[in-house]
Amino acid sequence: MTGSIPQHPIPHPELLRAVIESHRPDIGPYADFYRHIHQHPEISGKEIKTSELVASHLRGLGYTVHSGIGGYGVVGVLENGPGKVILMRAELDALPILEQTSVPYRSEHRMIDRYGNERPVMHACGHDMNMAALLMASSLLKAASQRWTGTLLVVFQPDEEETGGAQAMVDDGLYDLVPVPDLMLAQHVVSSDAGTVAIRSGPVLVAADSLRVRVIGGPCEGSANPQVCVDPIPLSMRIISGLQDAVTNEIGNEDATVACWGFHAGEPGNDYVAYADILLDIKTIEPDVRLRVLDIVKRSFLEECRSAGVPRDPEFNHTVRAPLTSNDDAIAGPLAQAFKGYFAESVVDMPFTRACEDFSILAAAHKVPYAYWNFGGTPRGMEKPVPSNHSPFFAPELHTTLKTGADAMALAALTFLAETP
Ligand SMILES: [Zn+2]
Repeated sequence: MTGSIPQHPIPHPELLRAVIESHRPDIGPYADFYRHIHQHPEISGKEIKTSELVASHLRGLGYTVHSGIGGYGVVGVLENGPGKVILMRAELDALPILEQTSVPYRSEHRMIDRYGNERPVMHACGHDMNMAALLMASSLLKAASQRWTGTLLVVFQPDEEETGGAQAMVDDGLYDLVPVPDLMLAQHVVSSDAGTVAIRSGPVLVAADSLRVRVIGGPCEGSANPQVCVDPIPLSMRIISGLQDAVTNEIGNEDATVACWGFHAGEPGNDYVAYADILLDIKTIEPDVRLRVLDIVKRSFLEECRSAGVPRDPEFNHTVRAPLTSNDDAIAGPLAQAFKGYFAESVVDMPFTRACEDFSILAAAHKVPYAYWNFGGTPRGMEKPVPSNHSPFFAPELHTTLKTGADAMALAALTFLAETP
């Protein structure tokens, strides 16, 4: 994939700085947008008002807007002459978390989720910041359109937290509405210091798989006495507690984790337990390790169940939660250089993170090269440990963070857009 981007010289950092500083919009309306969205978050798959707001803002900026893609997905298009097609993406959805920050714009919002449960809702992952930064960058790039040529696709993706939205947008015909991009860009606010940015080539976020297993118990031969049955509860518990060791024993030091994040067995009032349902989260980096780990986990269940004498093999239901997010050097390399030139000592190391993302699904069908980077949101000097993404206390500092995110996204696009002569 690295050969697919024709190289062109990186514009001089001072030239990019001049373009950004002379076209950056007033931060006020974008800070207001952030506070409003933070106070009115919407849960995955139900991003109705959020998507309306971003669509109407993009229209106001002069972008052509398509909405309702794969649920509440929005894409704004700005055609500005010949050149590369660049897709920039942010996420619309919030989390089912009860906010515990003390910011004046904290959320007290509750919603019925897609499963029918009433939940508190909070932008605890910072998608509100990602959105505000992308909108502000979209405004900057529109204002600077005399200084570049090409096409921008500004994507606001629904349902990222449950990692269904990117696939839904592709399946719903995103690339029938807009051209397939030459490259894709995304960024995420994280808990490093506000004002910092971090990027690197290669893997940045894990691949995640969901495996649902049903362990079926043994027959009781006319008796309900548990000692003569194969009780699926202790059997399942024994298998689960040995899974990580089984994986580590076979693959050694390769990066792979298996976690149980759901267990259900039995019904109140019924002393016979027919089966246990187990939900596993499997995280890996290398594609061949991923396949081996899936095999080891399934084999562990099969062998243990058979040796326990159950009448039926366990049932497996496997879904990909998120593919590996791995930055193409053809994009991340030039961006690392551009960031260094612009942000200087505020560029920090990008750690590999055990979180997952579905951004790369927007690239997968057409093998579009992409880069995904972080920008910091924690007030400098804050006492450690600082709240991280998905914490009910996650509260990015607003102005420095927003300005950094907007500048980073505009800078990244300008790095690849042809300059006007
Ligand atoms: Zn997120």
